[in-house]
Amino acid sequence: MGRERRFPVRWLLTASLIAMSAAQAQAQQSGPDQPKQTAFEAIDRNAKQIAEIGDAVYFFAEPGMHEFESTKLLKGVLEGAGFSVELGGAGMPTNLWAKWGSGKPNILIASEIDALPEGSQTPGSIPRKPMVPGAPGHMEGHNTHAGVTAATVFAVKQAMEKHKLPGTIQLSLGPAEEALGSRPFLVRAGYLNDVDAVLIVHIGDNFATGYGPQNYAAISATFTFHGKTAHAAVSPWEGRDAVDAVQLMDMGLDKMREHMRPTARTHRSIMNGGVQPNIIADLGRIWWFVRDASAQAAKENFDRLVKVGEGAALMTGTKMDPPDVVASAWPSLGNRPISEAIRKNMESVGLPKWSDEEVAFAKEFQKANGFREVGLATSLPPAGPRPQSASSNDIGDFTWNVPAGLMQFPGYAPGTVIHAWPAAVTPTSSMAHKGMVAAAKVMSASAIDLLTSPELLQKARDQFAQDTKDTKYFSLLPADAKPQLELNKEVMDKLRPAMSKFYMQVSPRFE
Ligand SMILES: [Zn+2]
Repeated sequence: MGRERRFPVRWLLTASLIAMSAAQAQAQQSGPDQPKQTAFEAIDRNAKQIAEIGDAVYFFAEPGMHEFESTKLLKGVLEGAGFSVELGGAGMPTNLWAKWGSGKPNILIASEIDALPEGSQTPGSIPRKPMVPGAPGHMEGHNTHAGVTAATVFAVKQAMEKHKLPGTIQLSLGPAEEALGSRPFLVRAGYLNDVDAVLIVHIGDNFATGYGPQNYAAISATFTFHGKTAHAAVSPWEGRDAVDAVQLMDMGLDKMREHMRPTARTHRSIMNGGVQPNIIADLGRIWWFVRDASAQAAKENFDRLVKVGEGAALMTGTKMDPPDVVASAWPSLGNRPISEAIRKNMESVGLPKWSDEEVAFAKEFQKANGFREVGLATSLPPAGPRPQSASSNDIGDFTWNVPAGLMQFPGYAPGTVIHAWPAAVTPTSSMAHKGMVAAAKVMSASAIDLLTSPELLQKARDQFAQDTKDTKYFSLLPADAKPQLELNKEVMDKLRPAMSKFYMQVSPRFE
């Protein structure tokens, strides 16, 4: 008392500081940071569950259209967290769509969880060591997407409930991304009609986000030729060789390549190449991927490829079926205002703190694979636009229908080449787990930005209108195209029993 009386000025100053911090605290209760804090706490509290979801999906190792165990596990996680979950929409049994809340804004989180054929690898083993030889495996780390996205929507829901934020949060895990197999069907079925913005996440070797076209359009189609069987030595003139047509189509495309844009990419697998040499083949089949920097250019390349096929049939006296377009993708279009919001959240969340062991393992892994021994990412890449990559993801179709934020997170050692088995070494490591937690924080913070800032959403809409002014979305799939449900069936029928011995017996639930 005496001190206060003797130093009234200091007392007043202290009192005003107390009053100010109380006002600040009140402002924060209703301000944008408090919901993010709630989301971050939910994510930190569930770090173990996030890792467990990612690891369980890794060991399921299910390729496109066979994500049965993976989606069953996620359905349990999401229903346990209060979401309504639809499995099997748009005619695809492993399509997962989860929803919580009601009304606007309606924010979608989207990714994929499929493995790749022949990617089986014992996690943590730097030498090649498949768990099940010939089996699929997560050599692109899509298993981590399961943990990141489930945690994101859970954390956003926690924040919406606690801070009474209006709106809807949804999660889409589309099947068969590796075969570009589902998103055009989801668009066609109207799943995006009420969505205001979508946030899309993919594993990478650092945080990254970009805007404008970020990758390539692609069309995947099989061409089937029918000939006439004959004895290849006794009466070859009676035969018409369907495999000759396949070869000529391949050569014809090689000739055409010189007169295509430098951005064009074409690649193929010969699916039917005859039965045995002394039988003229009456069936030939070739599967093509045609890509380019825009959907229009990819379509133009594809139409030319069809002509090459027709020419090959003409030359060989065989018949070509109409091409069977089985999958397609638009380039992913990143929305600049959303990307800038994501970037801010990346800066405030920051990269994970890597342990010495994690860095040492990354260097050992990099050395063994002939990559530069740089360890793990320690600073964010520069902000701003990123170059367009030649890869494709059918999630691109979403991005021409609603404003989309695209982001990558650090789950790999820098240098890792995906679609190759070494990429399956680290997706269950503590490094990946830390990256998943950081990714869920950035994703949930960005979703909260979209839910709480009408200005951001309006800017995103204006940018989207600008970006799509001269490019209206059309489906690259024919009107009668159906999802490729038979994809990967043979290998899964054969190998699932052996693969199932590695399944983790866990049922993670968020707290
Ligand atoms: Zn991927």
